[in-house]
Amino acid sequence: MKQMTVQQFFKRFPDEETCLKYLFDRRFGFNHECPKCEKQSGWYKIQAERAYSCGNCGHHIHPTVGTLFEKSRTNLQLWFYAMYLFTSSRHGVSAKELQRQLGVTYKCAWRMGHQIREHMALVDNVNLDTLTGHVEIDETVIGGVSNKGQGTGKLDKKFVVMGMLERNGDVVTKIVPDSKKKSLMPHIKENVEEGSVVTTDGLAAYRSLDDEGYDHLAVDHSDYEWAVGKHHTNSLEGYWSILKRSITSTHMHISEKHAPKYLDEFEFRHNHRKHGHLMFPQLISNYPEQDDEK
Ligand SMILES: [Zn+2]
Repeated sequence: MKQMTVQQFFKRFPDEETCLKYLFDRRFGFNHECPKCEKQSGWYKIQAERAYSCGNCGHHIHPTVGTLFEKSRTNLQLWFYAMYLFTSSRHGVSAKELQRQLGVTYKCAWRMGHQIREHMALVDNVNLDTLTGHVEIDETVIGGVSNKGQGTGKLDKKFVVMGMLERNGDVVTKIVPDSKKKSLMPHIKENVEEGSVVTTDGLAAYRSLDDEGYDHLAVDHSDYEWAVGKHHTNSLEGYWSILKRSITSTHMHISEKHAPKYLDEFEFRHNHRKHGHLMFPQLISNYPEQDDEK
């Protein structure tokens, strides 16, 4: 199943009311039992409010409560469209692009972009299982390219990102202070199941992976050994290359402060790639904290 096209999007979500109804149905369902009277007697939209009323007892449900739309004055259709752009783009969406597409101020677009990225991270994290099978682990350096105001000679701060990628599965990336064992190992133990086959480069930090219960093989990139057999980190290197190209083409540069959000955004898309058509509905209607309370 493919993602919606822009035309399909506007046909499906022509106005505010349709968006609210969608949110309500996705989160509560039309025949959802009323939490107050416990009957399934249908729900009716309340005029001029983002709320529905129980047909039996008149209990109100506000579908936006607990979502990132709750406190926003921006209308739902714009939010939906912004989220659609995030799920349909391969390289991410810049604040400038959002500003142009939505017709909002740059400040508003910037804030929406970051809220959507945070939400993507949340949705990705709840759906993420421990990596297993054959996992590639590698680090890369991001940043260090010159600033937008070219000619200033200023460089962004560089930072190290480690990645753990299950072959044909999910990826997890983390910003780490350095490539030392004590910086990398806790993330591996937290995200990769013991007993998994793990391929890394020859970095000293990984040498004790066998002792930690993994089936470990290091490949030496300088030695062309990486091309031999199943032990390579090509999948993760492919991921790094798309990530870096996207950051450069979409955002020019990202600050270390906001970098985790961009990394999460890319993770979300990678980890949902096999179910592209579900990305949008999941992003719109998945609110883990709220669901936990039930
Ligand atoms: Zn009721």
